[in-house]
Amino acid sequence: MSMELIHETLATVKRRNPNEPEFLQAATEVLESIEPAIRRHKKYRDARILERLVEPERQIIFRVPWIDDRGQVQVNRGFRIQFNSAIGPYKGGLRFHPTVCASILKFLGFEQIFKNSLTTLPMGGAKGGSDFDPKGKSDQEVMRFCQSFMTELFRHIGPDTDVPAGDIGVGAREVGYLYGQYKRLRNEFTGVLTGKGLQWGGSLIRTEATGYGAVYFAQEMLKTRGESMEGKVCVVSGSGNVAQYTIEKLNQLGARAVTMSDSNGFIHDPDGIDEEKLAWTMDLKNVRRGRIKEYADKFKARYYEGATPWSIKCDCAFPSATQNEITGQDARTMLENGCYLVSEGANMPTDPDGVHIFLSKKILYGPGKAANAGGVATSGLEMSQNSMRLSWSREEVDRKLHQIMITIHQNAFNTAKEYGLPGNLVAGANIAGFTKVADAMVDQGLI
Ligand code: NDP
Repeated sequence: MSMELIHETLATVKRRNPNEPEFLQAATEVLESIEPAIRRHKKYRDARILERLVEPERQIIFRVPWIDDRGQVQVNRGFRIQFNSAIGPYKGGLRFHPTVCASILKFLGFEQIFKNSLTTLPMGGAKGGSDFDPKGKSDQEVMRFCQSFMTELFRHIGPDTDVPAGDIGVGAREVGYLYGQYKRLRNEFTGVLTGKGLQWGGSLIRTEATGYGAVYFAQEMLKTRGESMEGKVCVVSGSGNVAQYTIEKLNQLGARAVTMSDSNGFIHDPDGIDEEKLAWTMDLKNVRRGRIKEYADKFKARYYEGATPWSIKCDCAFPSATQNEITGQDARTMLENGCYLVSEGANMPTDPDGVHIFLSKKILYGPGKAANAGGVATSGLEMSQNSMRLSWSREEVDRKLHQIMITIHQNAFNTAKEYGLPGNLVAGANIAGFTKVADAMVDQGLI
């Protein structure tokens, strides 16, 4: 009966959003896994929580005109999906990437609802961005684009309404330009974005938080088997913010990261990407904005054009690039090669076939909405510091982040057990995130 309700709701999602496969994928994954909670709690069925949950509270789509360095007018499309504000102001990143569309932002905004709920902090779920591609653009072009984007977005956000952050293609540079324009338009210096520069309201550890958090989460999963990160061989995808700080934390804990990738290919360095090589890569990616292939030339590692790193033998995998980057076939290869832990730094990096394989083989599998929640959790800590007008030390924020990751793992682990699915952190995280939001929606009436 509850499964019937779930399938009816998903059929409505499909009918209403016929061209949104990523959103349907995320909705299917969450709704099917929370079935035990829907079955157990009549109040959620009576209040039609599922039907309300899959419909964003508000979707904003807007034109972003800007002028390139040749003086030509360019037009991109901007979005903000304000999905759910039952437990706090909307919160979620902005993504600038040519693939950005309603489907991708709705999948990300939907996931964000449960992730934010799991952090234990009061934040609703949202996501936004544009099909603008910052790659190959000058700093001036990026600035003009960001100013135009914010000239529309500013009227929809605010420190108690909606607080965007970074995501793919939106790092420190973009957040700076966006914040500057917001401040001019509103004449207010306020915590309206997170991921800000340290001199103007940013939090220590925010840059590191998602990667560090994904490794802290992996440590907690290993602890359930009496193991630690020490000596583990780790495959990492991506070479952006999340990948970089995942590798930094792995090095600090005595593990060995052996791969990095970008959208052109991946490098394999069996000796490990140590501190010095990582510092060089950060300069390559964050300052010179070059391709990962250059790493292979510089450090005599192997480069594989047009491939992903999942064929490389490892103990642990940290997908940190993008959605659906691990297919069912990749998952099979990883298991055959002895991989027994996956901690998702990226959002929905494993496709449904891959998730099924990881769950059925009962490896240590930390889904993105739990394993990468350290980023938004530290954004929540940035918001608290902005409201109090003070800054916590590096050690204090890191301690809070670490504690939040431990709590998220415990919560997902215990909830999975409570609902008869021990070890299934997908169900545990989804149910734990869902029930808090659903209870708030029941309490607040028809919202
Ligand atoms: P960055 O833009 O800093 O880095 C993204 C990396 O992934 C780059 O190496 C990029 O390569 C690669 N990549 C992006 N798209 C693709 C693609 N379609 N195919 C292959 N490679 C790709 O982004 P982040 O590190 O911030 O984000 C990475 C993932 O982590 C995303 O899924 C994001 O949603 C998730 N995440 C990020 C958080 C954060 O705090 N930043 C928080 C929680 C989740 P290239 O340069 O060639 O495009």
